[in-house]
Amino acid sequence: MKIQSNEKIETLKNNVKGQIVLPDDPNYNEVREIWNAMIDRRPAVIVQCAEADDVPHAISYARENGLEISIRGGGHNIAGSSLCDNGVVIDFSNMTTVSVDAQKRRAYVEPGATLGDFDKAVQAHGLATPVGINSTTGIAGLTLGGGFGWLTRKYGMTIDNLVSQFRCSHPVRIRALSRGT
Ligand SMILES: Cc1cc2nc3c(=O)[nH]c(=O)nc-3n(C[C@H](O)[C@H](O)[C@H](O)COP(=O)(O)OP(=O)(O)OC[C@H]3O[C@@H](n4cnc5c(N)ncnc54)[C@H](O)[C@@H]3O)c2cc1C
Repeated sequence: MKIQSNEKIETLKNNVKGQIVLPDDPNYNEVREIWNAMIDRRPAVIVQCAEADDVPHAISYARENGLEISIRGGGHNIAGSSLCDNGVVIDFSNMTTVSVDAQKRRAYVEPGATLGDFDKAVQAHGLATPVGINSTTGIAGLTLGGGFGWLTRKYGMTIDNLVSQFRCSHPVRIRALSRGT
């Protein structure tokens, strides 16, 4: 594993609002755990982002130190592509806010939100979007792979309902469950 300079790590810690988790930290093993427990990758640095502005700092740190980057949403990719060995993990698992504009039928979704976070927020308004079957899957990775679930035959794939990607809040079209629109 590459040894990180303390000074550069301290600068990264000061620059980000989220948490930096390093191999010596007591929560390191817990934070690097993903859905497929057979994956045992050991990142050099995990940046647990608290806001979108943390991301450029994580990228700059990786570039300056010649480190690979991986991105973690819900951590459900079975091959473990959200984790890299000896690199920087940009971990969105603490960014799970879903805000709903029921009138515009738009949900604004942070990249660590799970399907459960999404469904809970939109169903409070009697709305839904086709997402996957398991509530602990991350909506970001699921959408990037297309995304299919209970409502797909009627309303298409999750990606069909992605309006745009804007920084770390992705507007998603939502539908009225009861009216079938
Ligand atoms: C138990 C289980 C049930 C499932 N059920 C379904 C289902 O019903 N329907 C379905 O369509 N799929 C299903 N899947 C597959 C799932 O959609 C994919 O594994 C998906 O990649 C998981 O996304 P994630 O965010 O949880 O995972 P992650 O492993 O965190 O991310 C998956 C990939 O997307 C990348 N990524 C994540 N977030 C971002 C981002 N913000 N920007 C750029 N890249 C990003 C990651 O780097 C990684 O390569 C299921 C998987 C499991 C394990």
